[in-house]
Amino acid sequence: MPRTPSSAPSTSWDIVIGLEVHAQIASTSKLFSRTSTQPFADANSSVSLIDAAMPGMLPIPNQKCIDQAITTALAFDADIQHVSLFDRKHYFYPDLPQGYQISQYHKPIALGGHITIDDDKGQPKDIPLTRLHIEQDAGKSLHDLFPHATAIDLNRSGVGLMEIVFEPSLRSSGEAVSLMHAIRQLLRYLGTCDGNMEAGNLRADVNVSVRQPHEPLGTRCEIKNLNSMRFIQQAIDYEAQRHISLREKGQTITQQTRLFNTNTQRTYAMRSKEEAHDYRYFPDPDLPPLVLDPARIQKLKEQLPERPREKYQRFLKDYGLKKDDVALLVAERDIAQFFEETARTTNPVQAARWVIGPLFALLNKRQTPIQDSPISPQRLSALIDAVEDGTLSERTAKDVLITMATSGKTARDIIQQENLAQISDDNVLNAKIHALLQAHPDKVTAYQQGKTRLLGFFVGEIMRETKGKAHPQKVNALLQEKLKKAP
Ligand code: ADP
Ligand code: MG
Repeated sequence: MPRTPSSAPSTSWDIVIGLEVHAQIASTSKLFSRTSTQPFADANSSVSLIDAAMPGMLPIPNQKCIDQAITTALAFDADIQHVSLFDRKHYFYPDLPQGYQISQYHKPIALGGHITIDDDKGQPKDIPLTRLHIEQDAGKSLHDLFPHATAIDLNRSGVGLMEIVFEPSLRSSGEAVSLMHAIRQLLRYLGTCDGNMEAGNLRADVNVSVRQPHEPLGTRCEIKNLNSMRFIQQAIDYEAQRHISLREKGQTITQQTRLFNTNTQRTYAMRSKEEAHDYRYFPDPDLPPLVLDPARIQKLKEQLPERPREKYQRFLKDYGLKKDDVALLVAERDIAQFFEETARTTNPVQAARWVIGPLFALLNKRQTPIQDSPISPQRLSALIDAVEDGTLSERTAKDVLITMATSGKTARDIIQQENLAQISDDNVLNAKIHALLQAHPDKVTAYQQGKTRLLGFFVGEIMRETKGKAHPQKVNALLQEKLKKAP
């Protein structure tokens, strides 16, 4: 449990939350230089003169990064601005060699838009975007490398970010987490951000305030740089409770920027909130206005993939699957694609079961992403067909799946080579049943006199004789029929 300041329990407070999300743009090179964004490079090995802010260097916008931001904004149904500006945002920090960050303040690349999330009751709720803009990331200060000095790694310096600002329309930490999940899923679908929160490639600043239901919005505090779903939830819960207890003691809230300590699960004041004028924003004289050709925007719009929510609705409608299963299948674009390719040639309900069940288990065990699955959708679908047409029992099919993965063979080859096909031919089964009943006349009589539990014995004998390959339902039916008529 997060430790919260003590307070009388109160239910009359509304919690108001607004998120500012930073997403690292998926791109092989930085925002204004050609330097690689390779994540695991040695410290300071991926730094050009531009990234190190040497005098006289000229930033040149990376068109791929701009396209990624446009694609993202389009997926949120935001309005792309045909003209936007790069501004300098000044602050002094050792890992910011320019002494300012190139960002977009006066005219961002996109305004408005929205995304639908599930609220705490599972109902859809629209969260409006205020804006989306492009900016550079800073370097990284390493405080624990040397005992008396701080080291600076500039590999991140100049990497492109999208900042996505949302309206203060969230009402609980659960909704905030739901929003982050929806954003992460969407960006990964688009391929515009890898969504790796642990690496800091997707992180959020959360703004929290409380108010009585009739009041205007309360004074907010901003908690910086949260890079996990759990921290977002814990930080909001703590902060909202802190505001409530202060208000209930009759105190006022001071607008602040705060940090979340993951060990104590509390927030701490970092600085009083800075205002826009503190940053002395002005248009970067080295960068002309960013003018976008409508044809370019149109082309990116046409290339937008089906979005996760649309895919979810379509799968529900088209395949007759359960909601929870659909949610699993659309979690990642590659999973959805694998499922659809499998379902194209076999029973979709079975395809869903096999992907979510045995295939996920296999991939999990091998730590393999689905796009590198050792079994292709076509081969999985052939295996499912073998169960559907009675060639394989479900149990045997699960073993065949594992053999397929280790041997690279098809289901058909394995069935043939290991002689695994189920015996479901009536003539073959009837002959075996006939012989069995002949061998046990006493048991047949006992059965006919009412000891019907003996059916299990007969089925067991047939299964034993066929080494489990007889089709169990068929054996059952044929036996019952024969036992009625015997001797
Ligand atoms: P700034 O640019 O100074 O950080 P903004 O007004 O642009 O301030 O708001 C930043 C974020 O704070 C937005 O996500 C917004 O939704 C959120 N926010 C604004 N007012 C409040 C409030 N009273 N309570 C909670 N969040 C708020
Ligand atoms: Mg802010």
